[in-house]
Amino acid sequence: MKAISVLGSTGSIGTQTLDIAEEFPNHFKVVALTAGRNLPLLVEQVQKHTPEVVALADESLIPELEERLKTIKAKSPEITLPVLIGGPDGLNTAASWDTADLVVTGIVGCAGLLPTLSAIKAGKDLALANKETLIAAGPVVIPELKRSGSQLLPADSEHSAIFQCLQGTPWAETARLSTGEKTPGLRRIQLTASGGAFREWPREDLIKATVKDATSHPNWSMGKKITVDSATLMNKGLEVIEAHYLFGIDFDHIEIVIHPQSIIHSMVELSDSSVLAQLGWPDMRLPILYCLSWPNRLETPWKRLNLKEIGQLSFSEPDTKKYPCMELAYSAGRTSGTMPAVLNAANEEAVAQFLENKIHFLDIPKLIDSACERHKADLNTSPTLDEIVSVDNWARHAVREQVNKQAITN
Ligand code: NDP
Repeated sequence: MKAISVLGSTGSIGTQTLDIAEEFPNHFKVVALTAGRNLPLLVEQVQKHTPEVVALADESLIPELEERLKTIKAKSPEITLPVLIGGPDGLNTAASWDTADLVVTGIVGCAGLLPTLSAIKAGKDLALANKETLIAAGPVVIPELKRSGSQLLPADSEHSAIFQCLQGTPWAETARLSTGEKTPGLRRIQLTASGGAFREWPREDLIKATVKDATSHPNWSMGKKITVDSATLMNKGLEVIEAHYLFGIDFDHIEIVIHPQSIIHSMVELSDSSVLAQLGWPDMRLPILYCLSWPNRLETPWKRLNLKEIGQLSFSEPDTKKYPCMELAYSAGRTSGTMPAVLNAANEEAVAQFLENKIHFLDIPKLIDSACERHKADLNTSPTLDEIVSVDNWARHAVREQVNKQAITN
């Protein structure tokens, strides 16, 4: 029985993780949950999974959560209520909860950074969905992983695909894959991309893109932020940096391939030129389950892949003019140091502004580019955690200021 903590339990990754825990009660037990503000769903989850501890990011909601849980206890006295904690310290405590074996990081954005570091420092293995943490703070997270010996298991479907392909290589027994070490024998990574919500739209029509358009993904059902990141293809850019940190491979050997069917989840080319791919339906439960069951595999009744039903798989070059965010991410990744943190924070803020209808879809890359350009003079090549947090704050502020002043230029 593996004891798991789910950070961001009320989100898309979190709820799918809990579905898996419910489906495999003999394999997984939920010991800790964290959420932002969604109390009704959190209460349901507490009832169903009876965790030992629950943390709420918004501390002011703890009294209300307490009340709701008391009502549940009155109706079902057999339920043992969890310890309730709130705020940043609460999230860190839940993330490093003593009885947990593995922590699923499903918090969205850089808000996941400190809880993830707490889990690593406590020596927990991680199922990493919260890619923003690694992108912003790779220079701090990777050394901590090496120090603690925590195993980082990628939950992002592309990185899970790469991780799964590498399990079949002769080095898998000796190399600790996905902990930032250069992966032996790995020559090239090809990250597949569905192409996002606007893949069929001509470039000139993007000027008309609304929030509703950008949050309707053709293949995957995900949270709003990552769905917009998929529409700008920034998600793929962030994944390039994520792959660089996870597998220790340089940016010249990470390619993006548009694959609209989302059946091949990514590919690795090995030193003898053999290419390995992992295939499956676009269903996040599979990479999450692999993190939970690794190094074993559990039998599932889930819909099996039938290539005859699909007929054709297609591939093409990404359009970097239509989607400038990919190049911005490559450039920030190559610059390294604090630049990926600025890219990530500027993107988070620009997407938030877009979701609030304050800026246009095409303003997102412009705002990120502007923040990265301005940061060049202050680049720190080997930042501490405090310095990363500081540039993250600066970039968010810089984007907000530019939006407020309506000073977005081409
Ligand atoms: P969602 O928006 O669906 O869920 C986000 C979760 O984080 C919710 O539980 C939310 O709580 C919580 N949360 C929000 N803000 C804070 C905060 N400031 N502090 C603590 N908790 C907070 O996101 P997704 O599940 O889609 O994505 C989560 C992460 O996984 C992202 O980093 C994303 O890039 C990554 N990912 C997601 C995939 C997917 O299929 N969804 C695929 C691959 C990666 P509440 O709702 O209660 O306020």
